[in-house]
Amino acid sequence: MRREGARGYELLQSLCDDVGPRFPCTAGDVAAIAWAKEALSRAGLSNVRSEAAPATLWERGHESCTVYLPRAQPLSLTSLGGSVATPDAGLSADIVAFDSLDALDAAPVAEVEGRIVYLHHVMPKLRDGTGYNAGSVARTAGPSRAARKGAVGFLVRSIGTETVRSPHTGALFYEPGVAQIPAAALAIPDGDQLRRQLARGHRVRAELKLGCRPLPVGTSANVLAELPGTSEEIVLLGAHLDSWELGTGALDDGAGCVIAIEAARLLGALGLKPKRTIRVGLFANEELGIGGGLAYAATRNDEAKLHAAAIEADQGDGRPWSLRVPLGQRESELSKRLHSALEGLEIGLDEGQSRGGVDISPLKQLGVPFVDLRQDATRYFDFHHTANDVIDNVSREDLVHATVAFAVTVWILANADERYSAP
Ligand SMILES: [Zn+2]
Repeated sequence: MRREGARGYELLQSLCDDVGPRFPCTAGDVAAIAWAKEALSRAGLSNVRSEAAPATLWERGHESCTVYLPRAQPLSLTSLGGSVATPDAGLSADIVAFDSLDALDAAPVAEVEGRIVYLHHVMPKLRDGTGYNAGSVARTAGPSRAARKGAVGFLVRSIGTETVRSPHTGALFYEPGVAQIPAAALAIPDGDQLRRQLARGHRVRAELKLGCRPLPVGTSANVLAELPGTSEEIVLLGAHLDSWELGTGALDDGAGCVIAIEAARLLGALGLKPKRTIRVGLFANEELGIGGGLAYAATRNDEAKLHAAAIEADQGDGRPWSLRVPLGQRESELSKRLHSALEGLEIGLDEGQSRGGVDISPLKQLGVPFVDLRQDATRYFDFHHTANDVIDNVSREDLVHATVAFAVTVWILANADERYSAP
């Protein structure tokens, strides 16, 4: 007999193999929206629908970088999402390295002007994934911080935690009013070698060629479906359907999508009507602009206050190990109930306050309380935003475990007498 929950893995296989990468407004995105509608219908959910969402678009194009260390070496790199291109002939300049944004900010303009900045930010490998907080700031803010000092290009050590030559992409954010310079991430071993060469006092020159370009805003869609409840209230279980195009988005966030779909299917299979509607939301354009999450929040109107809780699965297949609830509500009956149910899955009640995922974050201003199931992120940032984000790096067992944990959490949130309040 096939184990229940193993279906999630097969579902993820079909998303990765039949749909593949899902950057907004590409053929993969259109196929993913159709795939999601079918998967949600087959899971027995009701009100399966899509809602249009604006999407920030961008195209990668060719990308190469050769450094003269002083010997010539091509580097493994990938453009950052949203980056502008270099001139067609490429950009040749000396490289100057900094170990942190603070060090870059403190440098005299003369040290940076006319050069390519290499930011050697080393992300620690941690179970709670918090190394990504400062890491993502280094990547998103780095290009404009370098440009403020007159840099002509920006390279960052990949925001990741492995040592294979597979660079990690991810969005950048250009500050308004600051020159937009081309930006890319180096594979970790390439960045480390570059740092060593510079530390030895070598002059390192680079020729960077990026063919990427921002495109006009397009329209993608959030896909929603429900397990209807007996009251007006809603518990939202979110994930994001879009992915970077280097891999097939198996972990980020195909895993979260199938956790959400499969958790709702399992709860539907109980044959019991929940008190609150359980809504699955598979959001568009998380990676470059949060278009889907913003559109969802902007169109809820009176419905926002009916959201009793929102929770998001966006840490791959990691086993949940910790539950976070809204500030000051750790001692509530609801928290105790969740904790006692999740203890058997080796999930503890965290001291910290819930923060929500990126897609549901715009609901914060509307007073929607968040619950977090923190997933084990030890391996996640080995593959995140790389060509290795493929199903071969997904654990079937962990995916089942995470699915059960989300299902239990959502079921309790949907049926408890009380609800959390926004902090
Ligand atoms: Zn994600």
